Amino acid sequence: MSRPSRKSTPRSWRTGVIVALRLDDVGAASKRHEVYGLTRLRLGPLALPFPGNFLFIKYVPPIKRWGPYRELSAPEWESVLDALETGGARMTAAITAGWVESDGRVTPFPRKFPEAAAVIREGVRRGLLEVANHGYTHCVLEGRQFRPRLFAGNREFHREFHDWLPASTHREHVGRAQDILQEFFARPVVTFVPPGNVFSRATLDAAAAVGIRYISCLDPGRFGPVAGLTWVADGDVVALHDRDVVLGGLDVLRSLLRGSTTTFVTVQEAGERRGRATR
Ligand SMILES: [Zn+2]
Repeated sequence: MSRPSRKSTPRSWRTGVIVALRLDDVGAASKRHEVYGLTRLRLGPLALPFPGNFLFIKYVPPIKRWGPYRELSAPEWESVLDALETGGARMTAAITAGWVESDGRVTPFPRKFPEAAAVIREGVRRGLLEVANHGYTHCVLEGRQFRPRLFAGNREFHREFHDWLPASTHREHVGRAQDILQEFFARPVVTFVPPGNVFSRATLDAAAAVGIRYISCLDPGRFGPVAGLTWVADGDVVALHDRDVVLGGLDVLRSLLRGSTTTFVTVQEAGERRGRATR
């Protein structure tokens, strides 16, 4: 999972223009398995080495850096829909389509979280949500590298599309996620959000081949143009993580919608505008 990217608040943020709103990591089991600790402690001007990944220490706030935290519940999703409707906003939910169990088995999101998935589907039907592909696992399955370690953090293995994985893995994961999401939400999925901003040219080719049209992350154009794909870079997006809402409450979203004159739309809508502008 990438760090919260609110620091990339768009330049146009306060001038009443249109920006995409994105909520990442829905359904991603990295919230359970991605555990690492602080390895430097600030003491005045010094950053002292600290064994933040040693045994249980990485699970203890404030040393704990990412997980574990829980999935958003169905009632919370109802509140998200209400907040969007009240704020006249729309949002892209970037869903990791498979939940990785501790033994490495993968359960499709709609089967793992049926109540939450049903509310999201209702949000799609009401035109409040776009569902985006945020990978199949969010992590590396090979060798159970996603599991927490005794003496180390495991952040690197909670990125799914490393360039050292074979192209067939990129195709398989992008395609499986696409199948699960399109079948359950009964809409074409056209936006891909690479977990943790990590992807290769093989990931983009795999995405284009299964109908993806918009890539939304930090620096999506880093490998040059790809036929059929439009970049929706983080400068045009307010990207939250479900972690922000789970830990900060619904007010995180409500105050964002209330406190700005920006019109929030889905990544697909922002991408369509961008596509028209560059044509
Ligand atoms: Zn993520």
